[in-house]
Amino acid sequence: MKKKDVHVPIEEIQRQKDFLNRISAINTQFYLQNERRRTACTRTYGCQQNENDTEKIRGMLEEAGYKFTDDENIADLVIYNTCAVRENAEMKVFGRLGILKHIKEKKPDMLIGLCGCMAQQEHIAEKISKTYSHVDMIFGTHALYKLPEILYSAITDKKRMIDIDVSDGTIAENLPVKRENTSKAWVSIMYGCNNFCSYCIVPYVRGRERSRMPEDIICEINDLVKNGCTEVTLLGQNVNSYGKDLHLDIDFSDLLKMVDQIEGIKRIRFMTSHPKDFGDKLIETMASCSKICRQLHLPFQAGSNKVLKDMNRNYTKEEYLQKIAKVKKAIPDISLSTDIIVGYPTETNEDFEDTIDVVKAVEFDSIFSFIYSRRTGTPAAKLDFVLSEKEIQRNFNRLLDVQNAISKKKNDEYVGKIAEVLVDGVSKNDKDTLSGRTDSAKIVNFKGDLSLAGKYVKVRITDAHTWSLNGELV
Ligand code: SF4
Repeated sequence: MKKKDVHVPIEEIQRQKDFLNRISAINTQFYLQNERRRTACTRTYGCQQNENDTEKIRGMLEEAGYKFTDDENIADLVIYNTCAVRENAEMKVFGRLGILKHIKEKKPDMLIGLCGCMAQQEHIAEKISKTYSHVDMIFGTHALYKLPEILYSAITDKKRMIDIDVSDGTIAENLPVKRENTSKAWVSIMYGCNNFCSYCIVPYVRGRERSRMPEDIICEINDLVKNGCTEVTLLGQNVNSYGKDLHLDIDFSDLLKMVDQIEGIKRIRFMTSHPKDFGDKLIETMASCSKICRQLHLPFQAGSNKVLKDMNRNYTKEEYLQKIAKVKKAIPDISLSTDIIVGYPTETNEDFEDTIDVVKAVEFDSIFSFIYSRRTGTPAAKLDFVLSEKEIQRNFNRLLDVQNAISKKKNDEYVGKIAEVLVDGVSKNDKDTLSGRTDSAKIVNFKGDLSLAGKYVKVRITDAHTWSLNGELV
């Protein structure tokens, strides 16, 4: 059977670029009349996929002549790229929209756009339409590449633009991208998800799995290298499925090997892996390719087999632990992280003990733990809770206590050792300190000159905290 081409036609991408040129002309006119360039402010909520999408939004806005600001109060255009995975991320956006309303009252020409996973949900788009009339553009994940057309219409027609068409999703290549960090980059290798975990909204807002062509990915990474990039993180909701829809003889391990061959790349990371698809070939590839970082993020979500079944995760606690044992055997110094949901509706206190069991058995370097958040439209949203909020919070706190002790212990093992660190820049918490990451993704803070940003340096680790290490330049 002939494979359906999911790529947005090149003519359509060109049409969108024509809209960018038209907006650019309007913005040049604005500059000549006002002696200042129009400014745009973007905010990203949620995962790395969203961060990567925002880089495309900023790439398009830059081509359209916008200058960037972090301050919504002075921006001519504000775009929020939203997340739908948890309720509190949505509440934050609604809160911000309330603040924007007041700003727009003073600056009626300001344009406001809401995009991403939250906007893709029909009930949310409807709520925003009805309650937040100051939002000018609402567009979902599938319409991201149409931003130029949407923005052009919002500027010229001065009427609200909404595009949340439901679709299985497309792939839009050759969009401009603006990355802040030149030494490392996220590279999406696929989009969407076919797994339908019972709690997760992603398959409903990001469409079916679709892989980018390997040559497009390699071409993007080659371009990144030319601009000074040495570390790439390959992104997908389930990278282990890469290539399944391509009808080519290629899987994720093959792609990793191709990236490993690229001269100039020093570090390769990837996320996210699904335990059910994580297999021996990938473990062998990780062990044999020198550029693939000694780091694995493998979400297990819950330790109880009953809860895993209810979540539609398609693996058991025992299978997960076996896979982890294989990884540790093949790569003894591997750094492990995971995602855990506490308080899934059917989880009992006894089930939760299985989660604690897995955490203690694996000894993850770090975990990303969340209290279950009900998502409208998912099967789990119809379930009643077995545990009370108080019990769920108590379990959550206990999980953090158990993990924090493990994280500290794992970090203590670094003290006295010399680590190679790719310097990100100034530390978020202390402007006199540099911050970077080891191959194992540990954050290392140390004193040094900002000119080291983007470089690999040797740092002797002097002391360890729960979430980071301190050190000194060697
Ligand atoms: S694998 Fe499951 S949790 Fe991950 S994005 Fe797909 S449906 Fe959501």
